[in-house]
Amino acid sequence: MICETVKAGRECVFMTKKGCSFNGGSCHPIVEQCNGCEKMMEYEGGIYCMLYPDPAAKWAYGRCSSATHVQQDIKSVTQKVNPLKASKRKSKGK
Ligand code: SF4
Repeated sequence: MICETVKAGRECVFMTKKGCSFNGGSCHPIVEQCNGCEKMMEYEGGIYCMLYPDPAAKWAYGRCSSATHVQQDIKSVTQKVNPLKASKRKSKGK
């Protein structure tokens, strides 16, 4: 249904005929970690996330998976090569 609370006019799965069914009866504003994210949007009541109704929950266990302003932790994978096995592999190939 179409939201009639903080994101008025937007389609929302939490909106029902009885009003917003989300925890607390409306979306929650962004949290400090969201600053700089492209998914933030200003509505009449403040700044909210376009994607999630509760931004604090998205940061509760680490980085928000949809954040556009922080780099994803990329763990470099370096493969260790055992010189002895590499030597055997090389000799088998001949
Ligand atoms: S996508 Fe994540 S970081 Fe960006 S505004 Fe929404 S909750 Fe905050």
